[in-house]
Amino acid sequence: MAKKVVIIGGVAGGASCAARLRRLDETAEIVLLERGAYISYANCGLPYHVGDVIKSRSALLLQTPEAMNQKFHVDVRVKNEVVAINRDTKTVTVRRGETGETYEESYDTLVISTGSSPVRPPIPGIDHARIQSLWTVPDADAIRALIAEKHIASAVVVGGGFIGLEMAENLRHAGLQVSLVEMLDQVMAPIDFEMAQLLHQNIRENGVALYLGDGVSAFAPDGEGVSVQLKSGKTISAGLVILSIGVRANSELAKAAGLAVNARGGVVVDEHLRTSDPSIYAVGDVIEVTDFVFKDKTMIPLAGPANKQGRIAADNIAGGSETYDGSQGTSVVQVFDLTAAVTGANEKALIRRGMARGKDYEAITITQNGHAGYYPGATPMTLKLLFSTDGSKIFGAQIVGREGVDKRIDTIAVTQRLGGGVKALAELELAYAPPFSSAKDPVNMLGFVAGNVLGGLVGVAPWDATVSHPDATLLDVREAVELMAFSIPGAVHIPLGQLRDRLGELDKSKEIIVFCAIGVRAYNAARILKQHGFERVLVYPGGARFYQATHYEETAADAATQTAAVADSGHTADMDEPKASMRIDCSGMQCPGPIMKVFQTMQSMKPGEVMEVSASDPGFARDIGAWCRRTGNTLLSNEKQGDDYVALVRKGGVPAPVGKEAPEGKTIVVFSGDMDKVLASFIIANGAAAMGRPVTMFFTFWGLTVLRRPNKVKVKKSLVEKMFGMMLPRGSGKLKLSRLNMAGMGTGMMKMIMKQKNVDTLEMLIDKAKKAGVKLVACTMSMDVMGIHAEELIDGVELGGVGAYLGDAEESNVNLFI
Ligand code: FAD
Repeated sequence: MAKKVVIIGGVAGGASCAARLRRLDETAEIVLLERGAYISYANCGLPYHVGDVIKSRSALLLQTPEAMNQKFHVDVRVKNEVVAINRDTKTVTVRRGETGETYEESYDTLVISTGSSPVRPPIPGIDHARIQSLWTVPDADAIRALIAEKHIASAVVVGGGFIGLEMAENLRHAGLQVSLVEMLDQVMAPIDFEMAQLLHQNIRENGVALYLGDGVSAFAPDGEGVSVQLKSGKTISAGLVILSIGVRANSELAKAAGLAVNARGGVVVDEHLRTSDPSIYAVGDVIEVTDFVFKDKTMIPLAGPANKQGRIAADNIAGGSETYDGSQGTSVVQVFDLTAAVTGANEKALIRRGMARGKDYEAITITQNGHAGYYPGATPMTLKLLFSTDGSKIFGAQIVGREGVDKRIDTIAVTQRLGGGVKALAELELAYAPPFSSAKDPVNMLGFVAGNVLGGLVGVAPWDATVSHPDATLLDVREAVELMAFSIPGAVHIPLGQLRDRLGELDKSKEIIVFCAIGVRAYNAARILKQHGFERVLVYPGGARFYQATHYEETAADAATQTAAVADSGHTADMDEPKASMRIDCSGMQCPGPIMKVFQTMQSMKPGEVMEVSASDPGFARDIGAWCRRTGNTLLSNEKQGDDYVALVRKGGVPAPVGKEAPEGKTIVVFSGDMDKVLASFIIANGAAAMGRPVTMFFTFWGLTVLRRPNKVKVKKSLVEKMFGMMLPRGSGKLKLSRLNMAGMGTGMMKMIMKQKNVDTLEMLIDKAKKAGVKLVACTMSMDVMGIHAEELIDGVELGGVGAYLGDAEESNVNLFI
């Protein structure tokens, strides 16, 4: 007798199971029960229909009940909800949506593909009619109707997962003001924080007000709209609220029928997708799956796994013995101008499992172009790879960028699925022609860099190294012109080409973290340092570009200057039609190419002439504003045109563009060794540090005496150096007043009065300065001249050349010479 298979749920898993089963078994009786009005629709396309990107509603309806019946001879019953599974009688109780009457339907085999539903927590006021979730076609209809009929102009999206992000983008696309509220400190939880920072910046640049680390405490009516009250006390008013704060498995039926269900409500299945009842299979969002990487149980609600599982269940129902080997969670999302993609585990998950970086896993981050830089339109992507310390296993990968992100994540996902490690990534032979990739594809590059890390050629700093490695020397090996666009706070600057000659400026006993634009020159610098006896050298991953993006809030002063919008290239709305006498196309050039080209071209231009520069590198839009500000040139406009960023720059001219925050650092050159002058410089430094300003004190010539240890330190010196050392004051306690010293009496009196009046001594001020993070830099050139050795200096002093001082001076608005 023909087997009767009943499937509950007619979309991803259910519909794919029905179609496959029919292809395998022409005799089976297949009944598909769906409580909604539609089957097999593209729920993944719903956000784009709300934003009118997918204009045709019918395009989303991939299959009608009639067509499915005709093609596959499946008895499709929409608006038929299963309300009970009766395992003892092998029947399901079904309620007809239109009449409310119920009936029993028997089965030989049952498939549960009931999916999941959006979570609606009991937040006060959540039942307001303007608070919607997007899950089904009717949901999309209702949201579109609300926006159109009520002329809604603003929306709050609650939840920064992939549906929330897609909704934020599409509501902006539909012309609404959008706020996005996320309880975590990042959107897109499957990727790590630093990678999400790339998205945060872009989301804000696209006009979305982003509230991170803040949850909703209540909703309240506000006219016809909703007032969204946040836990921080902030309130946002909007005409519409979209809730997308997670999903829960639709497993009530399974639970009520006594099937095994995990703590999160996921139906427990074996590798053949059979539940604890051998006559019942379950697939899709409703089941728990095996984590492909760690082989334990998890829940991953995604369309790809649901469809594949539907197919596997069908195979097994038809007599096969197929297995589902687990989910990697491979997913991709478009977030405005960027694409974010992930496969496998992220670093947060590894840490949660008690794994330690360097011991149990390694992490690398690189920046690469999507295709050959010399072919127009190349844009950078940032790739992060997590792998085992023997390189044999890929734990996971994340990519944020523009073109080509999807194919790279898929390539890594395939390698991971097939058991390949980092060597496999390096060896993959991938299709290449300039419009599509580079001869060394970004995925190959991941393999190369990972191999270098495992081979001990290079170490990689964590993205937050400037905080987590406070004692490290930050070394920036970019060219001076690049620092005009953005400089790493507190970094010593020695261009790569000068590094071999200036190694003496660096302290071998300290850890050195090397920065360049994207990481390539930093790697070369690290190799030079390592081969010259510097043992603790790390490369900052992704370079200054990644640092800038991951610290974008702190480095906002370097963001592009916003100026009047231009209607088209070469014309600003509020100016006398400046004409570009020079046009340069930096499209496809990777950082720092565009800014270098601007610098070189500018040198051949006359003051007042205008240059139009276009670049595909999104970082250029930020760099050019800061570069103009620092070089005294005028940014007339800076805007996105198609895929390119086009800036209009006038040579020289007007004062700094409006709307910029000046750099806030303070630098003090302490040249004097007079007690009163040194006191003054430390008082100023401590005051600025107390205001939260970064302060660098650069001690040169007589100022170096301040930093000498009070006691004699045994070091090998020449005769002249010894004599110099004897004549120079030994440390702050030995300094004298510049006037009225009176053979030491005046200095002694001054110290006494300071004590009586409770004024800090110089030693106390130095100590406070160090604790407040004031950077004390001893000039290596003066040390050399004066025969002062590093061992003779007090603790907490950095050694640096004039480059170090100038690098900090670039970031300062006060620069004193004392
Ligand atoms: P579903 O496809 O949700 O189907 C379950 C069906 O069961 C529903 O139609 C429901 O009405 C029906 N049902 C439930 N209970 C009963 C009952 N008692 N009786 C009868 N019928 C019942 N995934 C991706 O991988 N990429 C994406 O870009 C993506 N975008 C998405 C965008 C949106 C807006 C949504 C909502 C989901 C998106 N997903 C995406 C997730 C993906 O759609 C789901 O993972 C997938 O559809 C799950 O398949 P499923 O068969 O388990 O459940």
